[in-house]
Amino acid sequence: MNGATRSRPGISLVIPVYNERDNLAQLHSELARVMRSIGDAYEILFVDDGSTDGSDRVLRDLRAADGHLRVVTLARNAGQSAAMDAGFKSAAGEIVVTLDADLQNDPADIPRLLEALSGWDAVVGVRRERRDNLVRRVSSRVANYVRNRLSDETIADTGCSLKAFRRASLSRIVLYDGMHRFLPTLLKMEGCRVREVPVGHRPRLHGESKYGIGNRLLPSFMDLLAVRWMKRRKLRYEVKDDI
Ligand code: UDP
Ligand code: MG
Repeated sequence: MNGATRSRPGISLVIPVYNERDNLAQLHSELARVMRSIGDAYEILFVDDGSTDGSDRVLRDLRAADGHLRVVTLARNAGQSAAMDAGFKSAAGEIVVTLDADLQNDPADIPRLLEALSGWDAVVGVRRERRDNLVRRVSSRVANYVRNRLSDETIADTGCSLKAFRRASLSRIVLYDGMHRFLPTLLKMEGCRVREVPVGHRPRLHGESKYGIGNRLLPSFMDLLAVRWMKRRKLRYEVKDDI
């Protein structure tokens, strides 16, 4: 936190950024508008995951103009899970909302997500109408099906980054590279209550997706096997007596 002017925010928006220069100003203005309308204390926490396209300069300028904004900068690109972990650890809010920096998630969905969090530990978005190309839509559908089958899970759209969490719940899990795709399952394994709500989706207009079939399919399948193993081998016992 920087300075006495800022009280402890209730809501931290955590946004991983890797080469998203041309999306950041619009994202910031949409987020500021939505968060002002909610009225709770908030911070917008951008995690710059080693961007090389000048995103750092844009973030610095935005931060100079808005006291709600914080920027955590990673020394070098470490991946989306690492960026999110750094954001979770730095977040001051009791509630953490995650979204992508590429404007594909709609900030206007945030109030509904927060409402849905009441009485739950996490709320995860389900993109009703994906605004991605056919290859991505089909591969995501197959991936969700396989993921749910192999890990005995029911989450419809784990790839949707728009999610809201109680920070206390996030503190209970340890992230590994790639695990941002399994947050709902990891939380459920810790006994957290997770629900799903439909959210919007928008096309990516600037910058490029960081994933394609090549760098997502095999790694996320290996991660799935790890999660399946963890779920199966989770310690389950009851202490009957301890005298
Ligand atoms: N991202 C990141 N580090 C990476 C890859 C991606 O911080 O190594 C960020 C990226 O800038 C975006 C989010 O993670 O905010 C999701 O990435 P992307 O939009 O490329 O994924 P897609 O929506 O295509 O699945
Ligand atoms: Mg995206």
